[in-house]
Amino acid sequence: MTWPPLRAELQGVEPYGAPQLDVPVCLNVNENPYPPSAKVVADIATAVAEAASSLNRYPDREFTELREGLAAYLNTAGAGVDQGGGITADQVWAANGSNEVMLQLLQAFGGPGRTAVSFAPTYSMYPEYARNAMTGWVAGRRHEDFTFDLDHARDLIAEHRPSVVLLPSPNNPTGTALPHDVIGTLCELVAGIDGVVVIDEAYAEFRREGTPSALALLPEHRNLVVSRTMSKAFALAGARLGYLAAAPEICDALRVVRLPYHLSAVTQATASAALRHADELLGKVALLRAERDRTVDWLRAQGHEVADSDANFCLFGRFSDRHAVWQGLLDHGVLIRETGPDGWLRVSIGTAEEMAAFRDALTEVTR
Ligand SMILES: *Cc1c(COP(=O)(O)O)cnc(C)c1O
Repeated sequence: MTWPPLRAELQGVEPYGAPQLDVPVCLNVNENPYPPSAKVVADIATAVAEAASSLNRYPDREFTELREGLAAYLNTAGAGVDQGGGITADQVWAANGSNEVMLQLLQAFGGPGRTAVSFAPTYSMYPEYARNAMTGWVAGRRHEDFTFDLDHARDLIAEHRPSVVLLPSPNNPTGTALPHDVIGTLCELVAGIDGVVVIDEAYAEFRREGTPSALALLPEHRNLVVSRTMSKAFALAGARLGYLAAAPEICDALRVVRLPYHLSAVTQATASAALRHADELLGKVALLRAERDRTVDWLRAQGHEVADSDANFCLFGRFSDRHAVWQGLLDHGVLIRETGPDGWLRVSIGTAEEMAAFRDALTEVTR
């Protein structure tokens, strides 16, 4: 016997974690490089101080005000809900980061004897949620160019009959978004076996002009769940607030598995205050999208392969020794991420100055 008495499948497993290193240019975890302004900081501080005056009490278990704020945000122009598809507060659920939202989805809709499916390369946390929720895990594949292979998906779904299909759009680490017809077909296939389709739209606000959001499909598919987060476009990774939009009965089901009062009063106050400044917090998204497109163009002009990106990062390569390139960049003070298929590297989009430092460092390292 080993000590402590870990579950067999957890023994010898390393905890998730990108290196948190103290370097001048951090382009490794897809954070928004722009901190909130002094005005937003002051408003959050005021809201938190108010919440602090009643911290002897448990918070609103149903986080009603926050759900209303999130629904209102999703209904604003550009968030992705098409005309007429107004999202209501009872279609919104939230937790401490969308990672917790998706774990709750697997706790509710996965479990022993059930299977969750995704398609690689994709977000490395998905198999961990499945493992933690004691759910079987099957990873299919994508086309060589990272677009979705619907024929392969159809076969895999027929074979494994998953209760949950989990897919990011835009995908991490490739940046590839899913077209509406793929999402619609998946929802229909999975509805036939009473499963849910979770589209993880952590990067939705960064999508290019003309790329749709799955939110517009909610009225047509009761088994569709669209996950979002305030960690990326909203520049609020430190607050830990993720959320989803789905049919009210899905949100209701999650109340069974959530821990009591899982969203602290401080978190609720912070997120609600931030939502009141959505315009400002999201104001940097246009800059980041433009910087992303410039980065993709520059990398291609240098002769690198770059996956088309609808996110605030891009995957580029291919390098025969990607670790050496990663280490070389780090030696120049630029931290990126060694992730994705062999030979590829992922760089998050930072400020114009940070991207200039990245370009200079990469030029040095690959010369
Ligand atoms: C960053 C990211 C998230 C967001 O996680 P939070 O827990 O909300 O911070 C979710 N999904 C993917 C694919 C991500 O890359």
